[in-house]
Amino acid sequence: MVRKSFTLTIMKTILVTGGAGFIGSHTSLLLLKKGFNLIILDSFLNSNPKVIERISELSGIKNVQKRIELIKGDIRDQKLLERIFDFAKINNNPIDAVIHFAGLKSVSDSLENPFDYWEVNVLGTIKLLQVMEKNNCFTIIFSSSATIYGVPKDLPLKEISDINPVNTYGETKAAIEKIFRDVSKVKSKKWRMITLRYFNPVGAHPTGKMGEDPLIEPNNLFPYISQVAIGRKEKLRIFGNNWPTFDGTCIRDYIHIMDLAESHIASLEFLLKSSSLLLNLNIGTGIGRSVLEIVKTFEKVNNLVIPYSFVERREGDIAVNYADNKKALSFLNWRPIYTLEDMCRDSWKWQKMNPNGYK
Ligand code: NAD
Ligand code: UDP
Repeated sequence: MVRKSFTLTIMKTILVTGGAGFIGSHTSLLLLKKGFNLIILDSFLNSNPKVIERISELSGIKNVQKRIELIKGDIRDQKLLERIFDFAKINNNPIDAVIHFAGLKSVSDSLENPFDYWEVNVLGTIKLLQVMEKNNCFTIIFSSSATIYGVPKDLPLKEISDINPVNTYGETKAAIEKIFRDVSKVKSKKWRMITLRYFNPVGAHPTGKMGEDPLIEPNNLFPYISQVAIGRKEKLRIFGNNWPTFDGTCIRDYIHIMDLAESHIASLEFLLKSSSLLLNLNIGTGIGRSVLEIVKTFEKVNNLVIPYSFVERREGDIAVNYADNKKALSFLNWRPIYTLEDMCRDSWKWQKMNPNGYK
């Protein structure tokens, strides 16, 4: 653990688990700009510590290193979690809230390695909640996923829609939400909890200096298109052209990473002035886009050609999925502002400026 004391004591201190990852890094940047002190805990299993330099640079804050503590470690390490909370207290900066991104997120990997997903995602979260409780820290925002809904019965998906995950990854997110439900009911403790059910986060910081740089091979649409665009992959395989949609390809609700990051700031600000509560919120734009629409928009705004071919449907895919985001709009001082064009432009800018990611 890097030992370094903060000099500013009036600011709130946020523990960001998984803060070096795709969503965590963009959120950490906004947290710093909003004036929060950060403790980032990350194992770097799927991220590069170099991202912290970019976060610092983009923050434009003088002596920003005094406001970020970077700890390499695992959320399953309860002793480490206890040391982090103790250390923050000793330094007169007790942790006020936690944003919990750390976890495993690949659907296909979760089907191959279910123990890892239950251990990291579920057990890791239980340990974190236990250490928080011990330290009287009761404010948490958790990265949930639209995957928990499974095959939608009705669209758009509302927070009250059936929770019916169809893979191990989704099961672990749904299980964590159940744990949150139980924990939030304990009357003697004043938990303030938000689970954000992300739809499809894409894009990058508009400067092109921060973006998605997974170490584990991604099989998501946007990183794949970017890799085709840069010539690392020959062509995009579109999984099915016979879905019951207007052009035969699947429809999803893509949301720009900066809009998603902003939803965490709005959630944190909301929780810090709330009494105890548990809120589950869909975080999407509310607009569904087909795979072909994405390809065409990417080509148009970036003035390039994405070769593609249609192949068999991917196992476990669903035809259409998009959010009803009204609950988030009404509770939070937040609304998505970035367009599909922005998502395509920023993804490509990041890829072009950083062909090897942060390396
Ligand atoms: P990411 O892999 O880029 O970030 C996760 C971070 O957690 C990485 O930096 C990784 O090194 C770290 N990590 C993994 N296991 C850890 C452990 N045991 N201890 C400490 N750190 C660990 O993923 P992301 O896209 O930024 O996703 C963040 C969260 O949002 C995850 O919980 C994910 O399940 C959830 N989510 C992501 C998406 C998406 O499409 N990106 C959609 C819905 C939900
Ligand atoms: N997709 C595709 N080719 C790819 C990757 C994804 O056709 O190489 C499609 C996939 O079938 C889905 C959509 O793009 O309909 C979004 O896939 P992604 O994995 O990004 O998100 P998710 O399936 O989790 O919504």
